[in-house]
Amino acid sequence: MKILIIEDEKKVARAIKERLEKEGFIATIAYNGEEGFFRVNSETFDLVILDWMLPGRDGIEILEIMRQKSISTPVIVLTARDSVEDKVTGLGAGADDYLIKPFAFPELVARIRALSRRGKKESAQHLSFAGIEMNLLTRKVSRDQKVLQLTNKEFELLEYLLRNKNKIVSRGMLSQNVWHEMARATPLDNVIDVHIAHLRKKIDDPFDTKLLHTLRGVGFILSEEIQ
Ligand code: CA
Repeated sequence: MKILIIEDEKKVARAIKERLEKEGFIATIAYNGEEGFFRVNSETFDLVILDWMLPGRDGIEILEIMRQKSISTPVIVLTARDSVEDKVTGLGAGADDYLIKPFAFPELVARIRALSRRGKKESAQHLSFAGIEMNLLTRKVSRDQKVLQLTNKEFELLEYLLRNKNKIVSRGMLSQNVWHEMARATPLDNVIDVHIAHLRKKIDDPFDTKLLHTLRGVGFILSEEIQ
């Protein structure tokens, strides 16, 4: 598990890093907001420990931009300011948890483990691909943060395509897995094609990069590679 510590107090940052490494985590430090922001944008971490008070960009600013950019890495905010108002601000900005400084290390480790368990559970309820985000619980779908209104069938169709991203999906697979038709006298090809066309209008037409492609005589593919 790879953890980024964004903390300007060197002693505190190094103590956290040392402690996390003893627990078997891989820990990296960014000593200011700019560096932290850059690393969060350019690398993948499983968790970020983010100090609230940082020179340059402060912790909350970094957190808000991360969430705007749909970077959903769990974040634990460290704050020395023990006021209810600040906690609310931190959680409102997209923090998953917070700790008041000074904190006990076993507490930090316990929170990290709790968040990593939660993260695994949540990913089963969430599908994403190339800017498309699908929440299977709330049934919310968006692309590049733009909310898309899908019908139930379009939702199911997109869910199946997301689960099979970058793979060819035939009309037969769709009639079986989305329309739940095993064998039928009249093939569903026209029905499927109409739904694909409607879905494409919503997920692709307003965007430059097209994702849903028809492969003649074969089926469909959700992919960034084919243009
Ligand atoms: Ca600080």
